[in-house]
Amino acid sequence: MKIITYGSPMLRKKAKSVDRITKEIKELVFEMLNIMRTGETKGVGLAAPQVGFSHRIFIMEPEPESVYFFANPEIINLGETETDTEGCLSVPGVYAKIKRAKHIELRAINILTGKKIILDAIGFPARIIQHENDHLNGVLFTDYIDNWDDFEIYNLSKVPTQLKGRFQK
Ligand SMILES: [Zn+2]
Repeated sequence: MKIITYGSPMLRKKAKSVDRITKEIKELVFEMLNIMRTGETKGVGLAAPQVGFSHRIFIMEPEPESVYFFANPEIINLGETETDTEGCLSVPGVYAKIKRAKHIELRAINILTGKKIILDAIGFPARIIQHENDHLNGVLFTDYIDNWDDFEIYNLSKVPTQLKGRFQK
């Protein structure tokens, strides 16, 4: 398993809903957790399309050892917005400030129990959920930026060429 980066059509597909939580799906999310924790850049969230599975599944670990595995998420926006820095394992080398809802309600299936859950999330976890849910709809955080200067670059050599290309006149 490896993380797919900016420029791959996989990241632009609308992912399919999950019918049933299978053993394969449980294995998939644990593999995703492993890759998210052990990569060169550590992540706090990862969506299944980022590892090549176009299904409505994502994981998050907003703080160490606090792990969530979700399928078929639905988000209800519950309030005002806030702007904070975001990055993405599929878009290495850059961060940007992105405006998101500050408070959301998530309805999803908890992959571990197979049960429906409702989660109230505020701040950082709410931001992760919105970022990961975007991946299921083929949306990347960079789509919210229309000026190259609005990126904060931490490693130019890692920035995907297609992303740089998008801003070249
Ligand atoms: Zn991402």
